[in-house]
Amino acid sequence: MERLDGKLLSAKIKDEVKAGADSYKQTPILAVLTIGDDEASKVYVENKRKACEYCGMSMMHFDYADCVKESVVIKKIKELNKDKSVNGIILQLPIPKRFNTKKILNTISPDKDVDGLTDISQGKIMGGNATFIPCTPKGILEIFDHYKIDLEGRHVVVIGRSDLVGKPIMLECINRNATVTMCHSKTKDLKKYTKDADVLIVAVGHKHLIDKSMIKEGAVIIDVGITRIDGKIYGDVNPDVEEKASYVTPVPGGVGPMTVAMLLKNTFIGYKKQNNIED
Ligand code: NAD
Repeated sequence: MERLDGKLLSAKIKDEVKAGADSYKQTPILAVLTIGDDEASKVYVENKRKACEYCGMSMMHFDYADCVKESVVIKKIKELNKDKSVNGIILQLPIPKRFNTKKILNTISPDKDVDGLTDISQGKIMGGNATFIPCTPKGILEIFDHYKIDLEGRHVVVIGRSDLVGKPIMLECINRNATVTMCHSKTKDLKKYTKDADVLIVAVGHKHLIDKSMIKEGAVIIDVGITRIDGKIYGDVNPDVEEKASYVTPVPGGVGPMTVAMLLKNTFIGYKKQNNIED
């Protein structure tokens, strides 16, 4: 069994982005909007700020209170869309339920949608020609590439059907010629599917939902889940799978750090496109 080391790989990617960003005159800028008081979001945004600084990018943070009017947030996004110095815009999720998340997200210009969550970006994934693949699925694809995990003809089982992770990774795996099964909260007899997975991608948010009795010998296990209990972080997969799997992403230190690295990579893609810089 080999651990798929997202920490090491993300450090390498951040250094590549840093090297690229260093060679251009203007500083790439990522704008982050937050609404409300989500504790986990505060940690994620701080991590994004540090990662931006490390790579020679700048992060602008627009932090709105719970009581902000939706129109104020939308107006700010429209301003950022027009601002030529801003290369990427993200709305940190989750936001309070009273807001129309889709409407706010779809205000972001597809050219600056570095989280890949607008309808236009999501549709482009369907066509296999996305400019911005959402950061977590993109991070998983980078792991596959780095560790030379070929998906062609293999059975990939995805658990979780969110726009953020499950659906885009399902489509990207199909684009890589995998046979894909999508499971979710209404799937009956989950084990029937997981037992047959050559590659199992779990994005649910349920501590240790999957254990070794549910996987195939030699399977590749990608654990996206993050559950915080008493200050400790748990994945969706019980570490006992290491007895049977060929590859496993640890939690923490697997998919998580890759997500931040991919946000930087996407912002840099935005920067290059907006400044007509060829690769
Ligand atoms: P979500 O809440 O939007 O979706 C969860 C999905 O899990 C749903 O589609 C639901 O149908 C499915 N589900 C729920 N219970 C299930 C069950 N018992 N069996 C099968 N499926 C079930 O979540 P999300 O935004 O995709 O995030 C999923 C998890 O991944 C969360 O823990 C989140 O914190 C984590 N996450 C981690 C990263 C990272 O960088 N590591 C990034 C994004 C999300």
